[in-house]
Amino acid sequence: MTFSHLLRELVTVTRMSSDQVLAGQAPADETPSTEIHRYGPMTTPTHPLALAPVTAPPATVDGFVKEFLRELNTGQGVALSRSTVNDQYLALARTVRHYLMARWLETTRHQRETKEKAVGYLSAEYLLGRQLGNALLATDLGEIAEKAMAACGLDLVTLRAQEVEPGLGNGGLGRLAACFVDSLATMSIPCIGYGIRYEYGIFKQTFVDGRQVEQPDTWLSLGEPWGFPHPEAAVQVDFGGYTETYRDGDVERTRWVPSWNVLGLPYNYMVPGYQNGRVNTLRLWSAQATKAFDLAIFNAGDYAEAVRAQTFAENITKVLYPEDSTPQGKELRLQQQYFFVACSIRDFINQVMEPGFDLHDLPERVTFQLNDTHPVIAVPELMRILVDEHKWEWDEAWDVTKRCFAYTCHTLLPEALEVWPVDLLGRLLPRHLEIIYQINDAFLAEVRERFPNDELRARSMSIVTDYPDRSVRMAYLATVAGMKVNGVAALHSQLLADKVLPAFSEYWPEKFTNVTNGVTPRRFLRLANPWLSQLITDALGVGWVTDLDRLAELEPYAQDEDFRKAFREAKQTNKERLYALLRARDGIELSGDHLLDVMVKRLHEYKRQTLKILHIVSLYEQIIHERVDPTTITPRTVVFGAKAAPGYRLAKEIIYLINKVGETVNTDPRVAGRLQIAFPANYNVTLAEKLIPAADLSEQISLAGMEASGTGNMKFALNGALTIGTDDGANVEIRQLVGDDNFFGFGMTEPEVAALGASGYQPGSYYESNPQLKAAIDLIASGAFSGGDRNAFEPVVSNLLYHDRFMALADFASYVDAQAAVEAAYADQEAWSKMAILNVARTGFFSSDRSMRDYLSRIWRA
Ligand SMILES: *Cc1c(COP(=O)(O)O)cnc(C)c1O
Repeated sequence: MTFSHLLRELVTVTRMSSDQVLAGQAPADETPSTEIHRYGPMTTPTHPLALAPVTAPPATVDGFVKEFLRELNTGQGVALSRSTVNDQYLALARTVRHYLMARWLETTRHQRETKEKAVGYLSAEYLLGRQLGNALLATDLGEIAEKAMAACGLDLVTLRAQEVEPGLGNGGLGRLAACFVDSLATMSIPCIGYGIRYEYGIFKQTFVDGRQVEQPDTWLSLGEPWGFPHPEAAVQVDFGGYTETYRDGDVERTRWVPSWNVLGLPYNYMVPGYQNGRVNTLRLWSAQATKAFDLAIFNAGDYAEAVRAQTFAENITKVLYPEDSTPQGKELRLQQQYFFVACSIRDFINQVMEPGFDLHDLPERVTFQLNDTHPVIAVPELMRILVDEHKWEWDEAWDVTKRCFAYTCHTLLPEALEVWPVDLLGRLLPRHLEIIYQINDAFLAEVRERFPNDELRARSMSIVTDYPDRSVRMAYLATVAGMKVNGVAALHSQLLADKVLPAFSEYWPEKFTNVTNGVTPRRFLRLANPWLSQLITDALGVGWVTDLDRLAELEPYAQDEDFRKAFREAKQTNKERLYALLRARDGIELSGDHLLDVMVKRLHEYKRQTLKILHIVSLYEQIIHERVDPTTITPRTVVFGAKAAPGYRLAKEIIYLINKVGETVNTDPRVAGRLQIAFPANYNVTLAEKLIPAADLSEQISLAGMEASGTGNMKFALNGALTIGTDDGANVEIRQLVGDDNFFGFGMTEPEVAALGASGYQPGSYYESNPQLKAAIDLIASGAFSGGDRNAFEPVVSNLLYHDRFMALADFASYVDAQAAVEAAYADQEAWSKMAILNVARTGFFSSDRSMRDYLSRIWRA
């Protein structure tokens, strides 16, 4: 089944109204037997082992081999001599899990006892990457595992390669959540990450004749050793129905009478801190049919119909929506969002609700951080729990609720701001819609009081809007409810306050803050780049892994010739490792001592992969028209990696163009091997870990004012690639930190972009006035890359020439100049190495540990 088949089938099932699917069903009453919720043994244990604390197996080669063989034999049920690589991988992963488990149990026990305030990180996506390598690093078992596997006749590298990464995110936003939970565990800060255990993660990208074809990501199919279900902690989630009022003594109250429900089954994933004995929890929810569905089977006597109903419930967590930054407003998506936050809020309250605990103290126990607007429906959900279930006064509940949430915004694109039609919300979550209206009414009354006779202002701040359709603006709801609102880089936070939410930042200036994103140095430097890591450790000792500011001490080494040589050798080793991988993984043959120029990120117009391809086509055009002698240019290998959302037509046409240009350029003898293009399919975290350490040049070329932060840019700089970039997102901060001399800046600034937009951007004028640009576009339009077919790239070309919101042509000349500066700089390898080392030394700021410190001081403990 292809990915689009899968999505279509899901949508068909979802489109049937829930009432139709579950006609005649009463809401289920899930009352598990008391036995399930009893803690502890039935009588006092007598065996000394049963009384002892949980301990990890001995951290020795013998201890490891013993655990491994036991897992293989009794867990996996095979003898070593008959085991497959997958058997071996699963047994190895479970062995490592054994070592983590005692620490996880100890962390959760400690948390229960100290009642320290926790972060509840709510994110619809976690792009975790492979787990085994990170778990071995965190437990410092790498060497032991390697020796233990060798002693069993196995190769650790091969076993690690067997792991399928959990692709439970689209790109930067999901990867950020994964970096954050890693940092919190490493800093021993209590955190529980909440999210969705999608059965199918981000689709697997393949290319057929240069075009993207999506395949479902069946990451669970070979077994998944890292997640373990806790069915006894399952939570019921209601949907649909209506609300009614009733009298409770002398107060009138509202209750929700839902029409259907599902069960949320939690899977725990361990989040180990780096060599600190701490293991936090990531809890991902999976939807299951409740007993109501079994009843339906029994009552209806229509087995097929009943199974369809069951499928309906379980569809909720079936698949991750593959849109990055353009929400589609689909009902199933809203179901997913409510499903996971309802489970998570309930779960957290269940955990803290011991005898004597007063829910009024909830803000002292947790801050729920909203990773974008996806989890914002948690706000009315907590209000509903407090007002309807606990029978609190509205104001009392609001006071607690607004101290429990903080909101992170991730975008500036208007089309990325989530909006839910009132009709849809009212049908799926009627009580929540009422609560949202009430929040809005109370808020607008406050605004009108503070700004009397300014109805325009009140309307501009209304959570519910009438245009173009009656709908709820989730970013506004999050801003009204959150105690803090943050952007994800300095420039982004500025623009967020000034342009996206100006009325709110004027109303509550102290609510708005910035936390610049970061990446975990464990995965993206220590694990991904062992050679550079060793060099750094040789120079500074091991402390940098948890204190990345210490990279500053590398600064003098930029002047050290031996260090520079070793640095270049590490880069070269990384390139060879990458080329070997691409040969094996994609059949891509790369060769030569080239500048490795890398652009990897989601395919989106605003990120401007088109600008990069125009530069390549321009180089090629000058070679074939003999205006440039290929033997005089700096040999360059350009690597792309990018998935396009399946429904994003233009993005897919751009992928097609890149692949066709690559085919042509790579096989044209006139190029003399001085320019190569590689586009390995299915860019993901695993590939990123191999690509980024090998790169010389990092392409961060979005239109200024469009990329909220970027985190790929940080990973590259930390691995000693130089950036060619616009003044956008965190590029601005990278450039400030590394210095203009160590950064290839180009393009319009955000105010210049705004001015050009206001005066009317006319791409044709750039085309007409720049012969080099014209020649490149004409070459694409001539059919030179499409076997003479002049229409093949019409959508891309006409967009660039007539519509392009992201003004690629306006920055072309400046980009080409900056690329010329790159070539000149690369010609002097010693100078280049200095610049690259300074990039590493000066970007310790971009550790996600620092981001966590900023969240703590500006938001969670503010
Ligand atoms: C870091 C990362 C991203 C984000 O890249 P940007 O260049 O910031 O958009 C996306 N996908 C993967 C797999 C990543 O590792």
